[in-house]
Amino acid sequence: MKIKKGDTVLIITGKDRGKKGKVLHAMPKEGKVSVEGVNLLKKHVSPEKQKQQQKGKKTGQIVEFPAPIFVSNTKLLCPKCDKGTRVGMGEDGRICKKCKQKV
Ligand SMILES: [Zn+2]
Repeated sequence: MKIKKGDTVLIITGKDRGKKGKVLHAMPKEGKVSVEGVNLLKKHVSPEKQKQQQKGKKTGQIVEFPAPIFVSNTKLLCPKCDKGTRVGMGEDGRICKKCKQKV
């Protein structure tokens, strides 16, 4: 996979199209990445069971987390030319297809 953890990517499809964010996790097997602030889902976090059983008390917590998206829905945001780009592979690693510099 050409996108790695720590890269900044541009989202090119879906509801978060146009957003930019940092890759928090890369999952090469699934071909997915999770990107900071992108595709946020709400998750209900349950407290311990004991507390849940107490009546009249609000329990649990809603947390937002970025759900993984397909890497094909993203483009690398080139740190050299600051454009969303496809990544090519050169002799010594990744190359921005726009500015031809190593990224
Ligand atoms: Zn570039």
